[in-house]
Amino acid sequence: MASLLTFEEAQARVLAQARPLSVEYVAIREAGGRVAAEDVRALVDLPPFPSSAMDGFAVRSEDVPGALDVVGESAAGRPFGGQLEPGQAVAISTGAVVPAGADAVVPIEHVDRSDNKVEILEEWRAGASVRPRGGDSAAGDVVVPAGARLEPARLAAAAGAGVASVACARRPRVSVLATGSELVAPGEPLEPGQIYEANTLMLSAALAAAGAGADVAAEPVVADDEQALRGALERGLAADVLVTSGGVSVGEHDLVRAVERELGVEELFWRVAIKPGKPVSFGVHGATLVFGLPGNPVSALVGCELFVKPALRALQGLADPLPRFEPGRTAVALRQNEQRDEFLRALSRVEDDAVVLEPVLGQESHMIARAGAADALVHVPRGNGEIAAGAVVFCLRLGLP
Ligand code: AMP
Ligand code: MG
Repeated sequence: MASLLTFEEAQARVLAQARPLSVEYVAIREAGGRVAAEDVRALVDLPPFPSSAMDGFAVRSEDVPGALDVVGESAAGRPFGGQLEPGQAVAISTGAVVPAGADAVVPIEHVDRSDNKVEILEEWRAGASVRPRGGDSAAGDVVVPAGARLEPARLAAAAGAGVASVACARRPRVSVLATGSELVAPGEPLEPGQIYEANTLMLSAALAAAGAGADVAAEPVVADDEQALRGALERGLAADVLVTSGGVSVGEHDLVRAVERELGVEELFWRVAIKPGKPVSFGVHGATLVFGLPGNPVSALVGCELFVKPALRALQGLADPLPRFEPGRTAVALRQNEQRDEFLRALSRVEDDAVVLEPVLGQESHMIARAGAADALVHVPRGNGEIAAGAVVFCLRLGLP
């Protein structure tokens, strides 16, 4: 028991195998959520010209206060053609080019307009309400660094800087395969000894949203039968990532690892010092990553969060693929497990200035209904003490991003 791999060591073994997939160019309108494989640089200055931050009048700051002649208009997309001379103003809209000669914009609320004249009573400093050319970023600046996800604001930064396509690692193809002779799809009648199959949907939803989003194929459930497993696993190995659930423990009908071995999967670990999820396995078959998650749905959930999702993020080139643990305070005292790191399902709330994490009642690994009510996994590090109520613990947020 003491020799079991820690989850950190197991994650390191997974990430050592999860190198970014080949690069493809993705049109910017399709690139939301993808990961930049190379630095994305601005093609133009942003803004590309000195532009107005307000609706108002472009002026020479040295002319105000004063009465000025309005000699034209600069609207967004329709610049004023001329040069501003002393004593002149140009009506201007937000985002329009500040005309040559002008160095300030006086907002419309601070102007008295009559016919072709404006009267401005206050002083306005040079640069007032003018967004300088390149003030946001200059042509050639990195707007999305390699390894960053194209979140909506980054996507807008790239688009605003004129970038039409982005080099991204291709999306991983993932095959999800639940194994177990007792499993029946919801909607079917339940015969004696059968249970409804829950893992395919959970894993597919979680993995389709991991990193940039994988291309997930949910395979039909396969029975604990060597012949059937061989066929199903062989098909699954054609993907970039094969994720099975069930059949990796020590029972007589736990055949997944043995059949995988026959098919040439090189196992890199089996069993990790975590609770739940200990019997998780990982191996490779050529370039395919092969995860064997235990069948208990909560164990599968934990294995998915700790190992499979990080691998998918790494395949997509994310710079920081490991799960991000966030601090919170435990609502109750937590006893540590000497051998294993525990991941408790908890519901979070904000109390005063802190996130408080309340473990849900029912922490057994088959209790997916209880886990369904949780929004966080609280990490209880292995050890032989107790973590006092109110102490800081770290948790992993559950749910789709
Ligand atoms: P196993 O890992 O195959 O020993 O399965 C452990 C427990 O999880 C057993 O009680 C199974 O019936 C249950 N189980 C296995 N696969 C699934 C699944 N896909 N959905 C729901 N429960 C499952
Ligand atoms: Mg089973």
